[in-house]
Amino acid sequence: MLAAIALVASSRAFVRLLDVGARDGTGEVDAVAPARAGTTVAVSVRPHRIDVTHDSSDVEDVATLRDRYGRVHDDLRISVTDRCNLRCVYCMAEEGMTFLPRAQLLSFDEIVRVARVARDLGVRAIRLTGGEPLVRAGLVDLVARLNALGFEDIALTTNGTRLAALAPALAAAGLRRVNISCDSLRADRFATIRRRGDLATVLHAMDVAEASGLTPLKVNVVVLRGRNDDEIPDFAAFARDTGRLVRFIEFMPLDAPGEWGPERLVPGREVFERINAHWPLEAVYEPHRVAPAERFRFVDGRGEIGLISTVTQPFCGTCNRLRLTADGSIRNCLFSDDEHVVRDVMRAGGSDEEIARILRRAVGEKFPGHAINEPGFLRPHRSMSMIGG
Ligand code: SAM
Ligand code: SF4
Repeated sequence: MLAAIALVASSRAFVRLLDVGARDGTGEVDAVAPARAGTTVAVSVRPHRIDVTHDSSDVEDVATLRDRYGRVHDDLRISVTDRCNLRCVYCMAEEGMTFLPRAQLLSFDEIVRVARVARDLGVRAIRLTGGEPLVRAGLVDLVARLNALGFEDIALTTNGTRLAALAPALAAAGLRRVNISCDSLRADRFATIRRRGDLATVLHAMDVAEASGLTPLKVNVVVLRGRNDDEIPDFAAFARDTGRLVRFIEFMPLDAPGEWGPERLVPGREVFERINAHWPLEAVYEPHRVAPAERFRFVDGRGEIGLISTVTQPFCGTCNRLRLTADGSIRNCLFSDDEHVVRDVMRAGGSDEEIARILRRAVGEKFPGHAINEPGFLRPHRSMSMIGG
């Protein structure tokens, strides 16, 4: 039996979930999905869109970024652009992508300001992403400015195409780590999955990143049934040979063309079983770490892999992330359409306290989990590169 629910409609006429629950009378449905470690998490079925530029809710007095489910948000993902020099099949359309007008992008001053306010509310880690973050000019300066704010960790997710030239300067500016996306170790297939760029450049970038001290190096692999899932053992061997942490990511319904479907999805469990059959794995036990990837080390001591099973084993119950989109909205979940516009508040002369209130509100309204596996799931309006992965 599900826990008792308390759902009330706020003055803004959207439904607020006050407890892990099942169903209200408005058509908003919540359900229970399997989570790792044998627990369950509640998931909200309907993505919801609101545009919050001021605040009248009861979350104003929350002192830190702790949500109604006790999740403390100390990780801010900053998208610096929605543009990219690649067109990966699982992310963008090959032709016809439209991008934000430059005037709508946050300036570096605006990004640093939001980051500073977030830091004062307890955010400790920053990840720069996009689109492809390294297509935005001046990123080294942005890293230096963020580093001056005293974050414990500043990381970058990149496709690796422009990293080799920038890695030493980024490291010197205060970048700690990089995740490099690479979905095939075969040059011809790399070209068909990512449509632009080339494998050799990305592999070279990995070497330069490590030589620059951007470690531990993580390699993100989106696993697509029928496209690269036969390379799962090759990537496991790559992890063993290089010591790089290869993270196998489930294909999420966030591709711009809208072609996602379960038939393309390779569950993390299957990845585990296929690797474990070759080289036995054991879980890396990390009691205090909050992260989407489940880590496994090879029993013989040669390296590690990670599984990011967003779809089949949601980690929403421990999610500590907030996102700042390139056009200045705070999003509390990849899969929710709620956007809390902070750019316009800043451009209208808003105070730091107003920015803080928007951050608190975004956290205060976060739903307990996504609902990809539920029948009523609606894809978010914006795709991965527009949100910031
Ligand atoms: N352009 C950079 C890159 O590719 O690493 C950073 C942005 S990209 C949106 C961030 C991560 O999201 C990448 O690791 C990419 O592989 C992943 N990604 C993009 N679309 C995805 C999807 N539909 N499902 C799962 N992961 C996806
Ligand atoms: Fe570009 Fe990254 Fe999306 Fe690929 S995954 S199209 S590199 S933003």
